[in-house]
Amino acid sequence: MTTPTRVPSYSYLTGLIGSGIGPSLSPALHEREGDRHGLRLLYRTLDLDVLGLGPESVGELLRSAHTLGFDGLNITHPCKQAVTRYLDELAPEAARLGAVNTVVFRDGRAVGHNTDVTGFAQSFARGLPGAPTGGVVQLGAGGAGAAVAHALLTLGTDRLTVADRDEERAAALARTLGSRFGAGRADHVALAGLGGRLAHADGLVHATPTGMAAHPGLPLPAALLRPELWVAEVVYRPLETALLRTARELGCRTLDGGGMAVFQAADAFRLFTGREPHAERMLADLADLVGAPAA
Ligand code: NAD
Repeated sequence: MTTPTRVPSYSYLTGLIGSGIGPSLSPALHEREGDRHGLRLLYRTLDLDVLGLGPESVGELLRSAHTLGFDGLNITHPCKQAVTRYLDELAPEAARLGAVNTVVFRDGRAVGHNTDVTGFAQSFARGLPGAPTGGVVQLGAGGAGAAVAHALLTLGTDRLTVADRDEERAAALARTLGSRFGAGRADHVALAGLGGRLAHADGLVHATPTGMAAHPGLPLPAALLRPELWVAEVVYRPLETALLRTARELGCRTLDGGGMAVFQAADAFRLFTGREPHAERMLADLADLVGAPAA
């Protein structure tokens, strides 16, 4: 008896489930990369707001998409945690974080991954090579913040301090990180204590929405920055936030949020299609889509 050969697929149906995702750049990033690989890759948005559905509908949407032949889905706010209970399996980084941003349907099973974690890690390694990670301060303990914190501790950050204007949220994230990566590697501080921690830190990661058009300005006083501090941003619309501009003018090494956005998309593309994405081309696409020169 001969083993049947698996015929490579050239058409893929993918998409994104989330709330308010009309302006998402994911469809363009995935479809442009699909075109370059000679694939027929469609990426649809399943917007809970447009569909009049709540976050609890993610399980039903997932089942429907699977039945209709989708190859995979990205998952975003507010469903990244809720989706985990509808999956057959979680990849290690998604299990550790308790959040999923990519689901792959294969052989009748739904497997959850988290490419926000791997995306930030790759962006950091590419954009700030050799940056010291003894002590890092992170502002923002929401969805992006949790993924970035996991990436930083996985990359070897010795001590991560988390701050958020919702102090209980920062404390909860620090507790979770401590239990997963070892007590003493993560703690939290009130916003009033940021200056004291930053004075001795190697780097600052910003993971709040401050700097986006709807939330302009700096997320912390410019006086807390100094040239020896590297500054990494998660906001990518715009690519150059007020924080990055201020830090760069001071002489800090900086990393914009575009790399994380692109590498998470590239990792999801690889999971969906099995093809090796070209991240540098996708970075140029992102710069094109947000109207900025490529980094
Ligand atoms: P979220 O709402 O889950 O969390 C934001 C957190 O920031 C909240 O805990 C909030 O209390 C805190 N916060 C807001 N303003 C603050 C301030 N001035 N000072 C201190 N804390 C403050 O949001 P999220 O999903 O984590 O997204 C945050 C940002 O990250 C957004 O701009 C989003 O577009 C961006 N993001 C980027 C990527 C990427 O790939 N680069 C991925 C996901 C999210």
